[in-house]
This record gives sequence, C-alpha cells and structure tokens, in this order.
Amino acid sequence: MKQPDVLVIGAGPAGTAAASMLLSAGFDVMIVERTKFPRFVIGESLLPRCMDILSECGLLEAVTEREFQKKFGAKFTMGDKICDFDFSNQFTKGWNWTWQVPRADFDKTLADEVERKGARILYETSVTGITFSENEAITDIENTSGKQKIKSQYVVDGSGYGRVLPRLLNLDKASMMPPRAAVFMHITDQKRPDNIDGIRIQIAVFEQDIWGWVIPFSNRNTSVGVVGNIIGKFDKDNCADFLRGVINSDPVLKNRFAESDYVLDPQAITAYAATVSKFYGHRFVLTGNSTEFLDPVFSSGVTFALESGMVAGKLVARELRGEKVDWEKDYVLHMKQGVDTFRSYVNGWYDGTLQKIFFAKNFEQDIKEKICSVLAGYVWDTSNSFVSKHNTALTSLSKVIGYYQ
Ligand code: FAD
Repeated sequence: MKQPDVLVIGAGPAGTAAASMLLSAGFDVMIVERTKFPRFVIGESLLPRCMDILSECGLLEAVTEREFQKKFGAKFTMGDKICDFDFSNQFTKGWNWTWQVPRADFDKTLADEVERKGARILYETSVTGITFSENEAITDIENTSGKQKIKSQYVVDGSGYGRVLPRLLNLDKASMMPPRAAVFMHITDQKRPDNIDGIRIQIAVFEQDIWGWVIPFSNRNTSVGVVGNIIGKFDKDNCADFLRGVINSDPVLKNRFAESDYVLDPQAITAYAATVSKFYGHRFVLTGNSTEFLDPVFSSGVTFALESGMVAGKLVARELRGEKVDWEKDYVLHMKQGVDTFRSYVNGWYDGTLQKIFFAKNFEQDIKEKICSVLAGYVWDTSNSFVSKHNTALTSLSKVIGYYQ
C-alpha cells in the first residue's frame, strides 16, 4: 500500500476538515475510521461559525445539497418564560443561519466529499498503536484482514470520543468541569407544530442544572435529550423511563412527544467532559473532541471540531512544506481563546447566572446581540466585549439585571 503523507485518525468533522485542508495543499491523506459509515454520533445542532469553516474547507456545497433542517436561532424556555435568539440579530457580521443535522448523514457527507477530493478512507479499521521517529510516525492499524503498520510524516488525531492518541501517549487529564450526564433519543414527531416551533431548536430548563434539548430534523424525526446533574438519577440500561419522565414534566413537550415512537433507542453518556495535557507534539496534533470537550449546552462541539481540524490541517501543511510553525500561538492559544470563552458561558449556565440574564425582563437588545454572537460560535471576535471579557461580563451583567428586575 502506498504510504500517505498524513494519516488522520477518525472521519468525524475534525478529521475530515483537517483532511480537506491537507488535500487542498496537495498532500496525500489517508483516514483510518473504526466504524462503517453512516454511523450514529451525538452532536446535532451546528453553530453559524461552522458555515465559514465548511466554506473554507471546500465542504459547504456538499452539505448544502443534503437539505438539512435550517437553524436560524434558538429558543430557551423555563416554565412559561421564553428567550429567543435570532442569529440575524447579532453583533458579529457573520452567518445568520446554519443546520440541525442527523450526524450519521452529515458526517457521511463530509467523508464522501473528502474521499471524492482524493483522500483514501479505510473504514472498519482501528488505530491500535503508534511510534514516532525523527522523520516519521508509524501507526498500527487493525481490521478483519489483519494488522498493518502505516508510515506517514504526520498524524492528525480526530478520533473524538475514541481519544486514541491521548490514551496511547498518556495525554489524558482530568477535566475541571463537574461530571454530568446526558440521556437522549431520536423519536417520531407527528405532532410537530406547523409554526416556527416545529422546526427550531429548543433548550428547556427543568432545574437550574438540568435542561433538555429538542432538535427537529428535516426527515421529520426529532432528537430529544436531557442533560446535566443527573448522574445517579437514571439506570444506564433502562434510561427511557427517566427521559420520558423529565420530558413529560413540561406540558407542551408532553403533548408533542407522548405518543412518539423511538427511531433511536434512549441511550446515555456519562462524564463526557475531557481534556488533555498537550494539544500537539513531534509529528502529531490532536483535534476536536480528542482535545477538550466541555458540555453540550451551547452546541459548540462540532464547531470546535471543524475549527481545530481546519487550523491544524493548515499548520501541518505549512510544517510539511518546511515553514516554521508556532504551534503554541497559532494552534493552542487560538483554540483556547474559543474554548475558554465557551467555558465561561457553560459555567454561567449551570450556576444560574445566564438563566437569570436570558429570562430577565430588562435584557437589553445590544447586549443580547453580543451574547447571540457567542452562541453563534463567533468566539474569536474580540471586538465583542462579551468575548474579550467573557470571564467577568456575565457576572457583572447579572448583577445589574438583578438590581433592576
Ligand atoms: P467524532 O465525531 O466523535 O468522530 C471521531 C471518529 O473517530 C468516529 O467516527 C470514530 O469512530 C473514530 N474513531 C474512534 N476511535 C478510533 C480508532 N481507534 N481508530 C480509528 N477511528 C477511530 N456538538 C455540537 O456541535 N452540537 C450539539 O448539539 C452537540 N450535542 C452534544 C450532546 C451530548 C450529550 C454530547 C456528549 C456532545 C454533544 N456535542 C454537540 C459534541 C459533539 O458530539 C462532539 O464535539 C463532536 O462529535 C466532535 O467531533 P470529532 O470529529 O472530534 O469526533
């Protein structure tokens, strides 16, 4: 087998974004993917920032053709209180819409497109080991035909929840986020309202640290999940009762989903937050969920997977051309800027600060537009004070809002 310039682990959004940038730069790319596509993975609500990245990676057109459900904003609810974010009313001049996607279809679209552009994808093949020498990486792969060693100049880890290089190179680090869990399913949606509520994403607060999502797809099925401080509140082998119980506690959701059938049986993920001690090393870089994952509440996971894959792909290409790359500045600090901004919002969500702001009567439009840009994924726009001062802006605002309310 011809040895590739770059071996990518995993054909999720991080892996395919990196592969696409490397292919455009003229490198030979092989993706090693453990499963057979299409395969299920959670993470169905995109952010408008994804559109810029898909466009730069040359993947936007292929996704557009799939006619996924368009997402124009998000509706947050707490009992009868509602806070609507509309991406066309935001501070940063960026995309004002994106998609809600069944990931099996979305990821397969990206993988097929990079294959069409020239990547070789080995499906149902796992990476099981790796060694590095001065001039190359030697990756052990395994499938039903047996074991092989692949030599490449560079390895991009886009293995997501598989966390291949963090495990093999001992890079896993305990996350500072408290352990939380999620229970979710795909269901039929016969009682989908005919108005905008039928197609838009809803984030429903059940308790301060327990919330749920409703993500309608264009195939008329809907993803429903409950997330937060729920560890110990459900039986992992039978989480349907718990999930149905929480959904039924909201009369509107109960009415809509009580008679829905499962398209994807309820399943759970526990203690999903993860991080690593380093993002890159000699002849390798980690991208997407193999680096850091915080929490699903603001749907940032795919955006970070695509952003890190795109940036890593560009930097690997530059290094392979013999240019000097400042990985710390151009990769680690860049990604941390985005992740740390969302960290403030995730923490603010679970400690109640953001809920106080979202559902306040005096939530002013100019501030709402700045927060909306963060929720759209424009977390590199430091002219937005709710990005540049992310660690203090929310607390200060919640005090003022609390004072006037
Ligand atoms: P993945 O999408 O996980 O892809 C990694 C690929 O690597 C997989 O195909 C896997 O099979 C392959 N792989 C793994 N191990 C190996 C191996 N040994 N050899 C070869 N291949 C391997 N994000 C959002 O943007 N929006 C959301 O609404 C959202 N909701 C979420 C809800 C929950 C409950 C959770 C836990 C997460 C959510 N996320 C969401 C986050 C999202 O799931 C991830 O951030 C995103 O899937 C990461 O993409 P990735 O490309 O890094 O990895």
